[in-house]
Amino acid sequence: MAKIIHEHWKCIGCGACAGVCAKYWEMGDDNKSKLKGADYKDVGEGKLGELTIENPGCNKDAESACPVQCIHVKEEKTKEGTPEANK
Ligand code: SF4
Repeated sequence: MAKIIHEHWKCIGCGACAGVCAKYWEMGDDNKSKLKGADYKDVGEGKLGELTIENPGCNKDAESACPVQCIHVKEEKTKEGTPEANK
């Protein structure tokens, strides 16, 4: 499993993520990018997007391409039998 995190408020709208990973990233009306299907919630600084998917795929390219490092890919290994596995 992989969790993709987007610190939306840091985004400068360069479009690199949508360029390398259009499957998951698109540019929004606010000229910042948007992680498709992500749940965006308000945290103090701004909006934080989170999406959990099976395989990070091209999100790793988006993470590397982002000039302000506001995309984070966290790969999680689920261990059977632990409470985390059912989250
Ligand atoms: S690459 Fe980073 S700064 Fe550029 S649009 Fe995507 S999230 Fe925003």
